[in-house]
Amino acid sequence: MQHEMRAEYEEGSPGRVAGAPVKIWHMVRANGTTAMCGRELDPDAETQAADLWGAADSAPFCHSCGAMYLREVP
Ligand SMILES: [Zn+2]
Repeated sequence: MQHEMRAEYEEGSPGRVAGAPVKIWHMVRANGTTAMCGRELDPDAETQAADLWGAADSAPFCHSCGAMYLREVP
């Protein structure tokens, strides 16, 4: 199954604007907008490849999504 990361922004952030600070990264299935933890994410939110999950220099990752993702992807 395909996964990708999708960004959640700070409350009140307009979303995908240049340099908008990412609050946390969630994991979604395929290119959906509902995170694996159930969170609804903006369709315009930034995405990045699932294999960057856990990369040291990225914003924080959602622990709930991480747990479910690691269960689906051995
Ligand atoms: Zn999540």
